[in-house]
Amino acid sequence: MATPAHVIGGGLAGSEAAWQLARAGISVVLHEMRPVRGTDAHKTATLAELVCSNSFRSDDVWNNAVGLLHEEMRRCGSLIMGAGDTHKLPAGGALAVDRDGFAAAVQSALEAEPLVDLRREEVRRLPDPSWGPSIVATGPLTSPGLAEAIREVSGERELAFFDAIAPIVHRDSIDLEVAWFQSRYDKPGPGGTGADYVNCPFDRDRYEAFIDALLAGEKHAFKEWETSTPYFEGCLPIEVMAERGRDTLRYGPMKPVGLVDARTCERPFAVVQLRQDNALGTLFNMVGFQTKLTWGEQKRIFRMIPGLERAEFARLGGLHRNTFINSPRLLDRELRLKALPHIRFAGQITGVEGYVESAAIGILAGHFAAAEMRGTEALPPPPTTALGALLGHITGGAAADTFQPMNVNFGLFPPLEGKVRKTERKPALARRALADLDAWLARLPKAA
Ligand SMILES: Cc1cc2nc3c(=O)[nH]c(=O)nc-3n(C[C@H](O)[C@H](O)[C@H](O)COP(=O)(O)OP(=O)(O)OC[C@H]3O[C@@H](n4cnc5c(N)ncnc54)[C@H](O)[C@@H]3O)c2cc1C
Repeated sequence: MATPAHVIGGGLAGSEAAWQLARAGISVVLHEMRPVRGTDAHKTATLAELVCSNSFRSDDVWNNAVGLLHEEMRRCGSLIMGAGDTHKLPAGGALAVDRDGFAAAVQSALEAEPLVDLRREEVRRLPDPSWGPSIVATGPLTSPGLAEAIREVSGERELAFFDAIAPIVHRDSIDLEVAWFQSRYDKPGPGGTGADYVNCPFDRDRYEAFIDALLAGEKHAFKEWETSTPYFEGCLPIEVMAERGRDTLRYGPMKPVGLVDARTCERPFAVVQLRQDNALGTLFNMVGFQTKLTWGEQKRIFRMIPGLERAEFARLGGLHRNTFINSPRLLDRELRLKALPHIRFAGQITGVEGYVESAAIGILAGHFAAAEMRGTEALPPPPTTALGALLGHITGGAAADTFQPMNVNFGLFPPLEGKVRKTERKPALARRALADLDAWLARLPKAA
């Protein structure tokens, strides 16, 4: 009998990867540690358990990148989307699912699949090359033994146990009449120009009002089990810094030294800096602005920042327990660990964020592993598709030094050619994506 592939973790990504391998005619052993060993968030032994909300977010194919990703995944024969569609609940434009029915459907599909051997066991070390192609999809709450094994291979700095997410803004929504490009002291630094940051200037009054809003803003609390995971002073939420003193931010992430407002020719009282976040230059990251403010409050309060009054956010900030690797540094374009290429990673541990994105990377890891095992060319999805844009971001497009988990969003897509009206841009990107996806799917080998 041919050697099977191995998938470790039967969550959103691992279930999808195992399904894709089986659909491609390849035997797969799926190792899931629950119920032998639990996590701090899962409550059941069912595969693909949704640990928190029951929403797959917007299902709008033409105006929302996650809606487009849904549609692409459906066209790829996604188990997760199939089960989600079967168990959907009324939720307006969002795809919300009956979590029990959804997870039971994923589990029974995999149990009924003769090519899938489901084993309830914890894998404590990284697969040996004798296992053959393997996919690690153990998620944000990877068990400590395996996390330690990953850390030994990746190095301490490349495996995180908390995400410290600063908001990301679409560059074309920044008011550059107010904000300006300049690096501190005009220093070019390695590979820079001396004008690499967008700077948003505060006078004293606006700074004081901003601090008041941060202090009063509604925040999420840390979960009890999160507080026992150490995190570092270097990634304190901004509102915690503000609580330590009204000037703390002005001497920290909002320090104005080395910056001169191009309009007033003076040093501002305080500055918020944004740094380019992707190779395309479409996204800018608010430097040092990790936060536990609720999403609604972030939008309201961060639009008080001069120059960001009309900011559109590609990602809002957060701070959570989350195990993830520095994929742009550690993985190749086929999600293989460069140091141990028989191992692929999939799901949230690769630095994507969310149920849908995790499952999407599971599809791709399954697809690449299947190609390798069949000896066929591993065709990557075009970068113009949501699948390709997400893959491109985590395996190269994102800045490795500041890499933090990312949802799919239109800022990850290569811009359209020619002039397209702003209101037409998203539908045009979606039309291009689906046409390119269909052409890609037509080139893939069919299951034996
Ligand atoms: C508390 C919390 C709340 C969240 N809320 C949301 C939300 O509301 N919406 C959203 O979109 N995303 C949310 N997320 C992110 C969410 O976890 C991911 O989006 C998604 O579940 C990730 O899919 P995954 O397959 O990568 O990981 P998981 O779905 O977590 O699957 C990983 C699986 O691996 C298993 N496993 C771990 N270690 C081992 C091991 N050593 N051996 C064998 N099996 C192992 C686990 O038991 C688990 O079943 C949340 C995450 C957390 C931690």
